[in-house]
Amino acid sequence: VPVIGLLAVQGGVAEHERHLERLGAAVRRVRRPGELDGIDGIVLPGGESSAMRRLLTTVGLWEPLRERVRSGLPAFGTCAGMILLSGGDDADPGLGGVDIRVQRNAFGSQAASFESELDVDGVEGGPMRGVFIRAPLVRSCGVGVQVLARVGDRPVAARQGAVLVTAFHPELTGDLRMHRLFLAGVSGSV
Ligand code: GLN
Repeated sequence: VPVIGLLAVQGGVAEHERHLERLGAAVRRVRRPGELDGIDGIVLPGGESSAMRRLLTTVGLWEPLRERVRSGLPAFGTCAGMILLSGGDDADPGLGGVDIRVQRNAFGSQAASFESELDVDGVEGGPMRGVFIRAPLVRSCGVGVQVLARVGDRPVAARQGAVLVTAFHPELTGDLRMHRLFLAGVSGSV
């Protein structure tokens, strides 16, 4: 059984926990550096990326987390989690797990929150319901990044190696397929 760390300093933690446990993962909430030891992957939830970043720095998690992610720890970030896993924006560098640049709260000024049916590469069985809440806009992707889904021409799901990110919130629907896709890339998974 894979042990999945779930970053729990801020944001929508319980919803991810439920999805991961339903898929048979052992979930460990991560609030301190030592709790990174022995995890097979990590999930970064939605919430407020600026608050999460501040808290991560305060508790001394930012650097060790960045090191683990850069040395290949599988990671899955939704919305604010995507912002943190990215290269960041001009003001705030990210953890650099996925070579994308993002702009916060910029996903269409008309629609701060919306839903969209999404066809996601690697997810079988029909479109997913994408729930977007003040989502980040992906401004650019490096060559190593595989875009898995778009809304119009805007990437909303992507992966690079073992790092998976979505601008939407699969944890807020009953759909487990995105989490299953993440777990499929985690060693120790069935
Ligand atoms: N707007 C938030 C941020 O910039 C992200 C919103 C979310 O995670 N739903 O951090």
